Amino acid sequence: MTSQRVPVPTLDAGLPVRAFFTTRDGGFSAAPFDSLNPAGHVGDIQEAVDANRARIDGLARARVAYMSQVHGDVVARVHHADERPEADGLITDSPGLALGVLVADCVPLLLHDASTGAVAAVHAGRQGIAKGVVLRAVEALGALHSRQKGAITAAVGPAICGACYEVPDQMRQEVADLVPAAFATTSWGTPALDLRAAVEAQLRAAGVELVHRVGGCTREDPHLFSHRRDGVTGRFAGVICCQIDPRP
Ligand SMILES: [Zn+2]
Repeated sequence: MTSQRVPVPTLDAGLPVRAFFTTRDGGFSAAPFDSLNPAGHVGDIQEAVDANRARIDGLARARVAYMSQVHGDVVARVHHADERPEADGLITDSPGLALGVLVADCVPLLLHDASTGAVAAVHAGRQGIAKGVVLRAVEALGALHSRQKGAITAAVGPAICGACYEVPDQMRQEVADLVPAAFATTSWGTPALDLRAAVEAQLRAAGVELVHRVGGCTREDPHLFSHRRDGVTGRFAGVICCQIDPRP
């Protein structure tokens, strides 16, 4: 495995701390996980996954803590990169630690609380959205220290769009009953869900007013992993760093 020195493309999250979304590009994995796949549970070889994770640590300039994502609403607080809780949200206020979420169509959500410096990384798929993981994450940040209105900003990363994410009509209705903004129709006229619109609506309902939308649709962009498009595939990462001195 050669040590490439090519730049690794990332999408900046637009938050006051180092925070970004990776793409497929710039990693070590072979097809169908090509190439920057940091997910160890999808069938890729561990050596490549480890090399990709090291590369993402390098981008973060910190070790990244990941979670074992289970499509639930549990948000876990972590203090070390070696922790790997079963959760769909991670929060930390430990300076020097980075948090990561892995997705390939679900919504990767990053949160920063300017009043405390605490950060969160959240896996918000259809089930997590319905169970309330977005609100749980905002509440967990608020519970760390005293809350200041407007202090939390968010970045909603690339995910499958409402024109692509076809679901059964009954499923669309069930989710839209909980989050009306999720209601969508595919470009070919069938029932669909708009997961990013749902997450953004939930953030605003939770009092988060500044929400950046970053990147496009995973199914349409060949530089992103998409489970719906490719089936067996890798994952890309949303990463946010807890920094004492946010970048200028
Ligand atoms: Zn799309």
